[in-house]
Amino acid sequence: MKMYEVCCDSCFSIFTIPKLVEEHLRDSGETLYCPKGCGLSFEKKKKDVCDDSSITKSRLAATKRSLSATQGVVTKLRNRIRKLNQG
Ligand SMILES: [Zn+2]
Repeated sequence: MKMYEVCCDSCFSIFTIPKLVEEHLRDSGETLYCPKGCGLSFEKKKKDVCDDSSITKSRLAATKRSLSATQGVVTKLRNRIRKLNQG
């Protein structure tokens, strides 16, 4: 049987439920309770959001940093060229 790993947003407990149960919860919108009793909603793909978005966010931040660094270099070069052209 395929299992689905659940990460509790409140207490960070990690536990597994059968994939069929996970699909049922997602379809029905019923609440799942973690071993410590926190209520978890399955409206969205929580695990995927948890894993992918943090990676995407850090990649986006890194890309933005390198982009702004590149823009800074371009601006400096432009200013240097302008000064050279002015004489
Ligand atoms: Zn919990």
